[in-house]
Amino acid sequence: MGLKLENKVAVVTGGAKGIGLAISDKLAEDGATVYALGRSTNMELDSKHNIIYKQCDVSDLESVTNTFNEIQKEAGSIDILVNNAGITKDNLILRMSESDFDDVISINLKGVFNTCKVVSRFMLSQKQGRIINIGSIVGTTGNAGQSNYAASKAGLIGFTKSLAKELAARNILVNLIAPGYVLTDMTGKLTEDQVNAFKNNIPLKRAAEPSDISDVVAFFASNESRYITGQVLHVDGGLAI
Ligand code: NDP
Repeated sequence: MGLKLENKVAVVTGGAKGIGLAISDKLAEDGATVYALGRSTNMELDSKHNIIYKQCDVSDLESVTNTFNEIQKEAGSIDILVNNAGITKDNLILRMSESDFDDVISINLKGVFNTCKVVSRFMLSQKQGRIINIGSIVGTTGNAGQSNYAASKAGLIGFTKSLAKELAARNILVNLIAPGYVLTDMTGKLTEDQVNAFKNNIPLKRAAEPSDISDVVAFFASNESRYITGQVLHVDGGLAI
């Protein structure tokens, strides 16, 4: 039996670090040709797989258009898009600057609009595709000090459901995975008190490893999820119950 994603081309935004790197690795392990995108130049990927890195700022439509055109030309198709790139700029509302709000929205939400706008042209003509957005449980539950981030992730839920309806007729499936608390650089910024508060509230009593998320991405990228679209799946050890 061949690998599940043999002959598929996947693009993972923010795919060179943290959860994104685990996603790039897993999709490559399942046989896909994987392009990882990020803002850094000349990124060395800590992977045993052959992942192709390209510099691309998802908040910049021109950068996204150029990069995706280049990948389409090089690889011949883009079958799977994982919108994983995301940032936090946490603060209580009185201390949150306008630019902290705008930066988070322009990467986490507008960035997904940019990549979907460009990739849907390719996927519509291929009459197939998978788009997997990485949201967060705080898009559903909210979180003090994260009004910008929670708004961006809540926005992604409506965006995912709308795009799922828009693209379903051409067999393009769009779903969202909402992680809870995952051990990465992003959560490395949390205080000990915040970490303990999270852990104590997780029914499975442990933080997620990036692979807990990437295994579910691989499912949404595979033929096994062929009848699922427009869904929000919490992968959070029960945190949002
Ligand atoms: P990291 O901070 O470890 O990695 C974020 C990645 O996004 C980096 O590769 C970064 O690369 C990339 N990135 C940031 N801005 C841009 C941009 N403008 N264009 C392209 N790439 C960009 O975060 P995590 O791995 O923890 O998070 C990944 C996703 O999972 C995010 O969407 C996050 O919101 C979500 N999430 C994480 C949780 C957690 O507990 N860690 C919980 C819930 C959701 P570079 O800096 O080179 O651009």
